Amino acid sequence: MKREGNKPAQELINQVFEVSDRKWRGIGEIQQSGLRLEPEFSAFDAERHFKLEEITAEESPECISGIILQGLKKPNQCPAFAIRCTPQTPLGATMVSSEGLVLPTFATIVSALRIPRYLRQANRHEENYPR
Ligand code: SF4
Repeated sequence: MKREGNKPAQELINQVFEVSDRKWRGIGEIQQSGLRLEPEFSAFDAERHFKLEEITAEESPECISGIILQGLKKPNQCPAFAIRCTPQTPLGATMVSSEGLVLPTFATIVSALRIPRYLRQANRHEENYPR
């Protein structure tokens, strides 16, 4: 891979997408942080077709995942962590996503404490969806 990346792929992406404002779960809208289809491709725009812009997700007021995602706090600093929020009873999406910090932190703690197998759903999730 060259330092400037894959130019043909970049040109294709620039032809199909334009930079747009996006809402991020737990954080809110960030200007120029996402992509959307260029107007000439609107016939293929599932967001518009299914009116996804009108759908909003209810978030628990206890969930501080936005603060964690910004690196301002660690997952185990959330008062709900492993008490009211577990993989079986998630209050936020990051408790069930292997891409964030919350679930891996939970899985590490559960593993370190040798919590019985039937409570180790987080570890099974990691096995099924390795990073
Ligand atoms: S532990 Fe649960 S409630 Fe707390 S930040 Fe993570 S997902 Fe949100």
